[in-house]
Amino acid sequence: MVDGLMPERRGVMLVLSSPSGAGKTTIAREVLSRDDKISMSVSATTRLKRPGEVSGVDYHFIDKTEFNIKRNQQEFLESAKVFDNYYGTPAEPVMTKLAKGTDILFDIDWQGTQQLVEKAPDDVVSVFILPPSHGELERRLSRRARDTSEEVARRMSKASSELSHYAEYDYIIVNNILGESVVQVMSILTAERLKRRRAVGMSDFVKRLCEDG
Ligand code: 5GP
Repeated sequence: MVDGLMPERRGVMLVLSSPSGAGKTTIAREVLSRDDKISMSVSATTRLKRPGEVSGVDYHFIDKTEFNIKRNQQEFLESAKVFDNYYGTPAEPVMTKLAKGTDILFDIDWQGTQQLVEKAPDDVVSVFILPPSHGELERRLSRRARDTSEEVARRMSKASSELSHYAEYDYIIVNNILGESVVQVMSILTAERLKRRRAVGMSDFVKRLCEDG
């Protein structure tokens, strides 16, 4: 394919949701490292920074006052309260990247997904990641040294209510073997990129094909 002749394409808003401990963050990291046409949406949060997390990379860490100001000024595409903390997706970077045909990866919960689907039903592709079993979910949560045991217990009890939202998603992945789950997410992304409705420049492209022929 000659550069510059590809039809224009609208970006995909690829949402990954799961209960904590299902492996969503690891899958997201792998997808980002394997594909340079997708970029992560960096959320704002009022939660405290965990060891190893980097401001502006993992999250924009802000306080409640700043969060409320941004929310009131409609700076978030969606926002939600999760585990007593507030989270929101800054709208501006997403809209700019989407218009340029860059795909965006979102690591957000079911509440945020519902809001994104409402705002951009044609752009959002939603994937729910399930842990392979209750026992494995518990083990993965306990292995996370970064959260206190109290936090682990709280997240475990929240997991079942989060899991009940799986049916609202387009795709479901059971994350048993990480490598396989990553390939499955990449396959979804590949297929969704090829959807005809995203190929905004297709009619001109086909016209040129006919003229050249
Ligand atoms: P954590 O605090 O463990 O990083 O994230 C807790 C939960 O908040 C995860 O389920 C994550 O997907 C969700 N989350 C992170 N950022 C956002 C956001 O911007 N909006 C919404 N609705 N949920 C988010």
